[in-house]
Amino acid sequence: MTVVTIDKDICTGCQECTKVCPVYAIEGNPREPQKIVEERCVNCGQCVQKCKSYVSLVDHGAELYAQKRAERHLPETVAEPLFAAYNVCHLDEVITALNSPKFTMVMAAPAVRVALAEDFGMPLGSLTPGKMAAAMRKIGFKRVYDTNWSADLTIMEEGTELVKRVTSGGTLPMFTSCCPAWVKYMEDQHPELTKHLSSCRSPQQMSGPMFKTYGAKLNKVDPKDIFLVSVMPCTAKQFECSRPEMNASGQRDVDVAITTRELAYLIKYYGIDFNSLPDEEFDMPLGDYTGAGTIFGVTGGVMEAAIRTGYTLITGKELNGKDIDIKTVRSTEGFRTAEIKVGDLTLKVGVLTYLKNIDPIIEKLKAGTLDLHFIEVMSCPEGCVSGGGQPKLVLDADVPEAYKSRRESTFAHDKNLPKRKSHENPAIKKVYDEFLKEPCGEKSHHLLHTTYRGSGGHH
Ligand code: SF4
Ligand code: SF4
Repeated sequence: MTVVTIDKDICTGCQECTKVCPVYAIEGNPREPQKIVEERCVNCGQCVQKCKSYVSLVDHGAELYAQKRAERHLPETVAEPLFAAYNVCHLDEVITALNSPKFTMVMAAPAVRVALAEDFGMPLGSLTPGKMAAAMRKIGFKRVYDTNWSADLTIMEEGTELVKRVTSGGTLPMFTSCCPAWVKYMEDQHPELTKHLSSCRSPQQMSGPMFKTYGAKLNKVDPKDIFLVSVMPCTAKQFECSRPEMNASGQRDVDVAITTRELAYLIKYYGIDFNSLPDEEFDMPLGDYTGAGTIFGVTGGVMEAAIRTGYTLITGKELNGKDIDIKTVRSTEGFRTAEIKVGDLTLKVGVLTYLKNIDPIIEKLKAGTLDLHFIEVMSCPEGCVSGGGQPKLVLDADVPEAYKSRRESTFAHDKNLPKRKSHENPAIKKVYDEFLKEPCGEKSHHLLHTTYRGSGGHH
């Protein structure tokens, strides 16, 4: 399926996109329209962020603009410049569902709440979870749940899987699997190594089966009547939710994934004055989250969240006070490693951000010299806060400041939440008591884990 594409009528062949593409999937001659090689593309959308060639109302007139907007299935209220590199938009399906008797549910990833407000003129990195929840409710979604809740759930499953692999001689190192661009890269380029990927679905894909089984029961609705929209900082998430195996709920687990930019389009389409919205809460219990869930949005965040819970799983003790901050994995360097004392075990971890940095790691893995237990990989330059679906930064000069501010807001949010460890989330405890029973148990295996091309189903 086509997720990201380049409009040959608009592309000037400046080749800025080819420089940022982490997998060298963009081909073409200088000053001629470029083309994306779909088999190699991992759908990360970095080219969408970088592209500078556009059609605008002011420069190109209403007729051409309207034609391009229609080709992209964008609502008629969209008036921003349209760039040559773009992701295929599915907002029309969302609007159709909102106008139907469907029981609509929505959720947003951690990195959306630190960037969405930029599309409404607020400062870079403004933290607005309350306004975001209010806007989604005003749009008409019947339930405003949260991917941060499922990020906490992911940690319970992934932390347990890691402990099992470490203590029972499973395949190590284990890599995170929440970035669909990274997963596709492994499947395309190194299928023989996919057994190193955690079998955990990403938070988005854990949400789907949970909301359409457990959530359906809570709301007393038929799973068939639920339409679940996921708002992501990411263009690759639409690819992920369209994967054929993503139907553990008996339905499509997630119906449509839209980007942060597209949520802003939707808010404008419904004429909502975002900036003056009073803060609202997410719907409970599937909107309850901890600081660990929210730091998934930054590079190193999944690792930090996993350590906060892994420590308790292994030692039976709690990290408290300033020990909750795992500073050794917090940086934006392309690859860094750390050794963390967890009881008697020295956990050796690595964090990689921006897929352009992956080659030496794969070489070491193949050579058997990658002496680590657990590695987080995010495809985008600084993790999901810098994702291809985030508000577009038209000026390159704004990029470092935007990433920094979104990152700082993410950590500030973590610090100020009443609970900061996934296993302390009361809604997560409840779901294990009432429904899943235990992490990596039978029900989890069916709903929350997956297999990859090349992995042969073994982990
Ligand atoms: S979406 Fe990502 S991988 Fe695909 S062409 Fe663009 S930059 Fe390259
Ligand atoms: S790093 Fe995040 S935003 Fe970028 S492709 Fe991966 S999941 Fe998507």
